[in-house]
Amino acid sequence: MDKENKIPKKIIFESVSKIYVGEKDEAVTDVSFSVQEGEFVCLIGPSGCGKTTILKMIANIEQPTTGKLIKPANVSMSFQFGALFPWLTVFENVALGLRQKGIKDPKLTHEVHKYLTLMNIAELSEKFPTDLSGGQKQRVGIARALAVEPEVLLLDEPFSALDAITTAELHDDIIKIWKETGKTIVLVSHIIEEAVSLGERIILVKEGKVREEFKINLPYPRREQETDFAHLVMKIRKVFFA
Ligand code: ADP
Ligand code: MG
Repeated sequence: MDKENKIPKKIIFESVSKIYVGEKDEAVTDVSFSVQEGEFVCLIGPSGCGKTTILKMIANIEQPTTGKLIKPANVSMSFQFGALFPWLTVFENVALGLRQKGIKDPKLTHEVHKYLTLMNIAELSEKFPTDLSGGQKQRVGIARALAVEPEVLLLDEPFSALDAITTAELHDDIIKIWKETGKTIVLVSHIIEEAVSLGERIILVKEGKVREEFKINLPYPRREQETDFAHLVMKIRKVFFA
């Protein structure tokens, strides 16, 4: 048995299909894949192919119609634009989940600051979301998701509304956080280059089905100009646009 097979699985999909209530077509069909503990997996595919539906089932927001899904109970999901509460400060946005868990001061303040610092936004603590840039909002969203110490962190197109430089900075930081915390991460993207920059493995979804998996053995930080990077992008692109 090789080393990889000894790592426990955090998420297992076995022939999962999902039909939303009132719909006749399946949003995802016969999906099977697994994610190992501590792994960084990117789900990619065109718009409408079922990526968010897969994440929502992992997050327990939606349930499979048929098939079997094994996942941990404490999973956090961070959404596009951070999905922050505008009437709460950055501190209170991050504190919310901790308060719901019954955590009180001084631990509460300590934990919030720990994750704000990890995301390089400690100085924004008392600001409101309207005062923040897109990249800063996304950082708060990820800090909030991490603060409840989930077993799995789900990121749904977290960088899709950001400019290239901000995205590159966040890519570097998310890799740093993944290495520091050892979290299992599933990130959704429709951008092949983003997935190749970040993931140890890419799962390509098309029309609700898993089409192909790609293992990525390139060292971090990865740069698009590198030959191996470009080759992989080409290889994936052929299937993505087939
Ligand atoms: P992606 O995230 O890849 O863009 P989604 O998972 O959001 O795709 O959507 C997959 C399919 O399921 C699409 O056809 C979409 O219209 C449909 N869908 C998504 N959410 C709902 C919902 N709440 N009710 C009905 N259909 C939905
Ligand atoms: Mg989506």
